[in-house]
Amino acid sequence: MTITAPDSVGTLRDGAFGPARSLVCRECGTERELGPHYVCHECFGPLEIGYDFGTVTREQIEAGPRNIWRYKALLPVPDDIEQSPNLEPGFTRLLEAKNLGAELGIAKLWVKDDSTNPTNSFKDRVVACALSAARELNARVFACPSTGNLANAVAAAGARAGIKTVVFIPSDLETPKQVNSAIYTENLVAVDGTYDDVNKLASEIAGEEEGWAFVNVNVRPFYAEGSKTLGYEIAEQLGWRLPDQIVIPVASGSQLTKVHKAFQELVALGLVEAKPYKVFGAQATGCSPVATAYKDGVDAIRPVKPDTIAKSLAIGNPADGIYVLDICRATGGTVEDISDDEVRDAIVLLARTEGIFTETAGGTTVGVLKKLTETGQLDPDLETVVINTGHGLKTLDAVSDRVGPAATIAPTYDAFVAANLI
Ligand SMILES: *Cc1c(COP(=O)(O)O)cnc(C)c1O
Ligand SMILES: [Zn+2]
Repeated sequence: MTITAPDSVGTLRDGAFGPARSLVCRECGTERELGPHYVCHECFGPLEIGYDFGTVTREQIEAGPRNIWRYKALLPVPDDIEQSPNLEPGFTRLLEAKNLGAELGIAKLWVKDDSTNPTNSFKDRVVACALSAARELNARVFACPSTGNLANAVAAAGARAGIKTVVFIPSDLETPKQVNSAIYTENLVAVDGTYDDVNKLASEIAGEEEGWAFVNVNVRPFYAEGSKTLGYEIAEQLGWRLPDQIVIPVASGSQLTKVHKAFQELVALGLVEAKPYKVFGAQATGCSPVATAYKDGVDAIRPVKPDTIAKSLAIGNPADGIYVLDICRATGGTVEDISDDEVRDAIVLLARTEGIFTETAGGTTVGVLKKLTETGQLDPDLETVVINTGHGLKTLDAVSDRVGPAATIAPTYDAFVAANLI
């Protein structure tokens, strides 16, 4: 059996996808069987996972492991998922950011710090769910097109799971992100083109080759559900409550839509109280097709050619962009963008106020939080969460000319005093 075989579903083991019931078209609601499918046959809309949740309680979740599998009853994974080797991502810190809050004038601010995941970005969450699907579908190859972090997460998870990996990246990617993939896999493929070109190539390969699980292409519905765990964790770590406002970076837009889905599921299951909350999207101006559509008041996203240091957000044609617009508008949030210089400033600001070194994506999110506050789009009196999705050591070049030694001195006490540092 291979992942692209039409009868693959017939040979699935019982409970392969846990509480997942079917694939449901986001546009027309048409359902089809669970499998390596991602496009609706009726309308070409994207498919997502539909569930039959049983009873899920706070106690049951709290008794689970300190990683995303504590929410396995809400994910398309088998009940024995913890037995299969994986990177066990998640349950990252939710830190109260008093210094940054004071700096920005926000009364109650939290940073959800996903830079501490196994490969230092939130992508370990989505990849863990995609790996489970790939395994259940007997995929031979675990693969992805990536803006960097996804390739790191796929290569590492595949190594641990003992499955062959192939990861595709744009050839102009930062060296640390290239090394962070190549260290885990022999098959890092650099493609001369933008991420959108790499993505198109991956779709073509997925259509031609048998047995390949492309995490964000043919098993994307399973992959995308991993982002829900960010939303579950934030609510649980707040003491089973939803925040009033949340600021989330937007590349494809998947993470933002799934954090919202997670909050809605928690309300529907009675695990948190229903309440209004606003969702804000963050982009870098050099790749801001969703922010542009938001500001123009239109429903369609016009693709752009990315030109920004926030490479992990550099998707010019975001698959879930229109859903990000819907969610931000419906909840009373907005989509905002900032310049690369503001991204750099925000990386330094977060580091100097909270001791958290974020990559350019997090600089974008924190910088947008600042702009939203300064422009009155965000209410500084409401409890706010900002998501840090990646680690600064992967994008050192972005700030290497902003920070450095205050002085270079001879190894003598006199030289130290003469430097007049403190
Ligand atoms: C991939 C990525 C995102 C955004 O992901 P989408 O779900 O595609 O919007 C944000 N931050 C970092 C660091 C990423 O690697
Ligand atoms: Zn459809």
